[in-house]
Amino acid sequence: MRIAVIGAGFTGLSAAYHLAKKGHEVTIFEKDLNPGGLAIGFKTDNWEWSLEKHYHHWFANDTTILTLAKEIGYEVFIKRPKTSVFVDEKIYQLDSPANVLTFPKLSFFERIRMATVLAGLKYNPFWQKLEGIKASEFLPKAMGNNAYQTFWEPQLHNKFGGYINEISLAWFWARIKKRTVKLAYPKGGFLSFANALVKKIEQHGGKFFFNTEVYEMKQLKNFDKIIVTLPSFYFLKIAPQLPENYKQKLLRLKGLGAINLILRLKKPFLTDGTYWLSICDKKSKVMAVVEHANFMDKKYYNNEHIVYIGNYLPHDHPYMGMSADELLKVYDPYLKKINPTYHSSLIASHLFKVPFAQPIIPLNYSKIIPPFETPLKNIYLANIQQVYPWDRGTNYAVELGEKIAQII
Ligand SMILES: Cc1cc2nc3c(=O)[nH]c(=O)nc-3n(C[C@H](O)[C@H](O)[C@H](O)COP(=O)(O)OP(=O)(O)OC[C@H]3O[C@@H](n4cnc5c(N)ncnc54)[C@H](O)[C@@H]3O)c2cc1C
Repeated sequence: MRIAVIGAGFTGLSAAYHLAKKGHEVTIFEKDLNPGGLAIGFKTDNWEWSLEKHYHHWFANDTTILTLAKEIGYEVFIKRPKTSVFVDEKIYQLDSPANVLTFPKLSFFERIRMATVLAGLKYNPFWQKLEGIKASEFLPKAMGNNAYQTFWEPQLHNKFGGYINEISLAWFWARIKKRTVKLAYPKGGFLSFANALVKKIEQHGGKFFFNTEVYEMKQLKNFDKIIVTLPSFYFLKIAPQLPENYKQKLLRLKGLGAINLILRLKKPFLTDGTYWLSICDKKSKVMAVVEHANFMDKKYYNNEHIVYIGNYLPHDHPYMGMSADELLKVYDPYLKKINPTYHSSLIASHLFKVPFAQPIIPLNYSKIIPPFETPLKNIYLANIQQVYPWDRGTNYAVELGEKIAQII
């Protein structure tokens, strides 16, 4: 069969890989110059490795993508970086049951209660029962107001903003369930891994057209089947012929964009060695600080200390229209609370934005997920909004690609 895949993110790459391996004639159209989609990387002249525009890692149990890496002979590093929270302007390591049980901001009883709730979620396999419950209602009741207001409410607020009261407990469950203390990272970065997949697909006869945006489904009329891997609102743009009731269903799915300011520093930003710092402060303008060089060795990046200042925001939020310098001015007072002298070691900054990065998972999401088959004959949808109950990620993009390849 002649199969077109729109998008060379990890869903498109995985679908193309499995279909090409089966002997189908696969052609991939990608609007960017490079593969990787949301996990795409960039490189400066003096770096050995590429770096993701938005922070990325795998969990040690992301078995689908780790198996794929193994299958194509791609090397992966596994490490145990430090994860911490910023509470009342202090950093606390919080990535093990022992840390939870000794956390000084909660009473002994509150720590036990929070640890019990988290363990209950981690070992509960029945997410279906949780999807009708709101995270913002369950968590304060189950773990107590102080634990909720100290950690989880600020994190949910900083991630989802105005959507906080819509998020289902199934989403929160997935985050807790999947968390592993060990994290994985592909040698050379996600761009390099995506390029290795491109090579494999080409070896199986697949053809890539980069820098090629599909504007209209009609452009691809010579294919037997078409797989669309774009977020749903992009699909609506390129397929105006879709029936109205289907369009309305896709329009019901909401999401947030992402914005990451990357600081390249001469000295560490998180001097205690933390890789991931969640900001537990509702007044903060920053959601998370992620020091990549506290995960992967700085030697791959010309000894620079690379830090992401991350946020999820609606695509029309004022920050989305700012330059790197403007945004750094906004973030600077808060960043100085974490590291008062960071600015003196700043080499350069980069700003990356994407309009759609995080689906909003409301109550009973399983009832509104669009199916793979679309109302258009031989056109299939496989995108980030169909990943559930797990939170979206490259592991699930690869899983989705495998599924759609099987269906076809
Ligand atoms: C801030 C942030 C942090 C993340 N952290 C992690 C993490 O730590 N670990 C992890 O595994 N995942 C993480 N993710 C999620 C992960 O990146 C995504 O789940 C995954 O990459 C989605 O892949 P996809 O192929 O489904 O979609 P996408 O990556 O969105 O791919 C769609 C592709 O289609 C292309 N395209 C769009 N329109 C057209 C068109 N008209 N014609 C042709 N091409 C088009 C795009 O350029 C893109 O390459 C993160 C995402 C963000 C934004």
